[in-house]
Amino acid sequence: MTLKIYNTMTRTLEEFIPGGVKRDKIEDYAPVSIYSCGPTVYSYAHIGNFRTFVFNDFFRRYLEFRGYKLNQSMNITDVDDKTIAGANRDGVTLGEYTGKYTGIFFEDLKSLNIEEVEHYPRATESIDSMIDILEKINSKGLLYEKEGSLYFSISKYGDYGRLSRVDAREIKSGARYDADEYEKDDVRDFALWKASKKDEPSWETPFGSGRPGWHIECSAMIRKIYNSTIDVHTGGVDLIFPHHENEIAQSEAAYGEKFSRYWIHVEHLLVNGSKMSKSAGNFYTLRDLIEKGFSARSIRFLLLTAHYRKQLNFTLDGLKQAEQALERIDNFIVRLNDVKNFSCENNADSVIENFMESFTDTVDADLNISGGIGVFFDFITKLNSLIDENRLSLNDIDSINSTLELADSVFGFIYMDKQELQVDEEMINALVQERNDAKASKNFARADEIRDTLIDMGIVLEDTKDGTRWKIKK
Ligand code: AMP
Ligand code: ZN
Repeated sequence: MTLKIYNTMTRTLEEFIPGGVKRDKIEDYAPVSIYSCGPTVYSYAHIGNFRTFVFNDFFRRYLEFRGYKLNQSMNITDVDDKTIAGANRDGVTLGEYTGKYTGIFFEDLKSLNIEEVEHYPRATESIDSMIDILEKINSKGLLYEKEGSLYFSISKYGDYGRLSRVDAREIKSGARYDADEYEKDDVRDFALWKASKKDEPSWETPFGSGRPGWHIECSAMIRKIYNSTIDVHTGGVDLIFPHHENEIAQSEAAYGEKFSRYWIHVEHLLVNGSKMSKSAGNFYTLRDLIEKGFSARSIRFLLLTAHYRKQLNFTLDGLKQAEQALERIDNFIVRLNDVKNFSCENNADSVIENFMESFTDTVDADLNISGGIGVFFDFITKLNSLIDENRLSLNDIDSINSTLELADSVFGFIYMDKQELQVDEEMINALVQERNDAKASKNFARADEIRDTLIDMGIVLEDTKDGTRWKIKK
């Protein structure tokens, strides 16, 4: 069993070999270096953006589950046309403006149960590394200046377009090029550094004062953190051209070594068949959906239910179905921990073993998380049958709970929200008992009052023939 990943660069499924040299054991690999293009912090991110970020998180969690060590980065683009325009519009400094949206972004990551990564570099804190790249590109004769801005000369570089396989004629015709208001020699060329303009922040460099072009930011942050070839670069498919193509050109021209071994690109989240985007106005932010009463947990679940290389059409109905699927998991957990007639033998061992094997096989094949979720629901179905047949031992229940925890180290949606709510079980049990006593003595007003108190605490009650159960509300 080995992990295989589809590499956009080669358009093939490749065995995942961090560092490029195969080792006997996964533990023998150095930490996997991963760089993920992060948000431009000019506004709230939408859940299309979060599809890519949730995928990055799942990728990280799955590598951890498989035993790899990690060294992952996600950048914050905190200077570009949109952030500058926003700061000017609100009459605040660029730092104040981007600081606000960076804070909101991190809160959203937390709400979606996205794990922290090792590095969050900011473009504005990486100017020294950008200057280093500019100097190296200049020394190779690939940089030219026009009206104070610096451009990368694609025609002189000669090795452009390997990732996107974009036809040079297509770029020439202007159908696809790096839109830029600045002057350049060739429509394909892209700005490395933009001349300083009135009302715009600028930084001093040996080439004059100005601010970074977007593409150089990622190249610089990667060099600063990793200093050589990285294992994996990720982003949404819209970044393949020109952003990632330009990152490769700059970095490989400057440092003369391979930029990234694997390129992973996440397909878009769609709304009615079109890409969810700010400019199209067809977007939902996380907060929009939470206001409508949906949980971040169901959004995380939904975003993971399609293979990352397939488009996913977002609908509110889909979100409702996600909530139902999560309820199936919750109900199963309540049932599992409610088993009263224990079997003497362990009957779950082989079910657990089959699940772990089939889950790993499925996800190893190009990070097929949607397939992995399917395998998980089959697992629950089998365990529900064992519960129906009273065939679980106390040992089984412990092993199943450990397996659920392990699965959740990858999914992050099984126990999501549950950890945050600190429940005092003793107190809840006492209230449930008091409610039962109140009902028995026909004091229904008190019984209802207790139910409402519990609901306010985030606990819902379920009256069954075997007594009253409680569970944490999603
Ligand atoms: P941005 O803040 O626009 O630079 O985007 C941040 C990340 O979200 C990038 O990796 C984009 O490729 C990704 N992205 C943007 N829109 C979508 C979408 N509709 N579906 C999936 N990923 C997206
Ligand atoms: Zn980038």
